[in-house]
Amino acid sequence: MTHVIAADIGGTNIRLAVVDPQGQIIAESRLQGELSRHAETSQAAAEIHVIKTLAGAIKPFASQYDIHELGMGFPGFFHGRSGLLASSPNLPLLQNFALADRLSDTLDMRVSVENDALCAAIGEQKYGAGQGHANLLHITLGTGIGSGLILNNIPYSGEHGMAMEFGHLCIEHHEGRLCGCGNYGCVEAYASATALINRFTEICQCEIADAKSIFEQARQGHTCAAKITNEAGMYLGMAIAEAVKLLDVTTITVSGGLSGGWDILHPALKHELDDNLIPPLKGKVDVLRSRLDDNAGLLGAATIARDI
Ligand SMILES: [Zn+2]
Repeated sequence: MTHVIAADIGGTNIRLAVVDPQGQIIAESRLQGELSRHAETSQAAAEIHVIKTLAGAIKPFASQYDIHELGMGFPGFFHGRSGLLASSPNLPLLQNFALADRLSDTLDMRVSVENDALCAAIGEQKYGAGQGHANLLHITLGTGIGSGLILNNIPYSGEHGMAMEFGHLCIEHHEGRLCGCGNYGCVEAYASATALINRFTEICQCEIADAKSIFEQARQGHTCAAKITNEAGMYLGMAIAEAVKLLDVTTITVSGGLSGGWDILHPALKHELDDNLIPPLKGKVDVLRSRLDDNAGLLGAATIARDI
């Protein structure tokens, strides 16, 4: 096995790494690259913009190390492992876009692409807190909430690449908050970084820089920050209980920026989870913080690069 290039494509960042066969990141680069910021109005033009932006970032990095295999986590829904992008919430012009093939032709590299949250699940199972578990639900808590599911050691993406849209499980049926997806009461509208900041601003009537500061305020006894963060944990616990009722998966891992608030989120989450599970599963579900911090996606991308 050889070294591969791993790419983790976020909303505003492109992270690239050289990963060795043992899963060690031996070189890394983080670039600005906002794929959704463009003035194109046709699918063809938007495709060119996306390929140009990605190739412009990846090509110099890969050439530097003379590596010709790329795995990439991308925020969108894919048809199986084909690298065919069915759709992407941030890039509405792109429908049924052969992302992996187009990128492969442009870069002259072997390219594998998978949904970003599913990549994080793959990385966590292979190298992180999910090691040794054939069934795993991995949740990414960041600006939004994503998740990836692995069943019997096989990543499961559903019929349209949309399996485990955990962030959009409805946990508040009465006057729920509006979610970015257009529905009301989704867990993402309560427990993502965006939701915490919005709720803090609304309830406390004051501005706050980021979700990390809300957790810091909560630790210092700020009543409003404590209420919001505790509720985020509770809602996550409720949503996990619903997922477990469907899947009977008892190992859940959590990564992403908000896992920095684990000391607050986990007790609230665990309490609500055990309250809402069906009796035979109470006390049997482990919710673990990622051991890979924000590298789960990169290591999953490296894994799929080798898996073709
Ligand atoms: Zn939603």
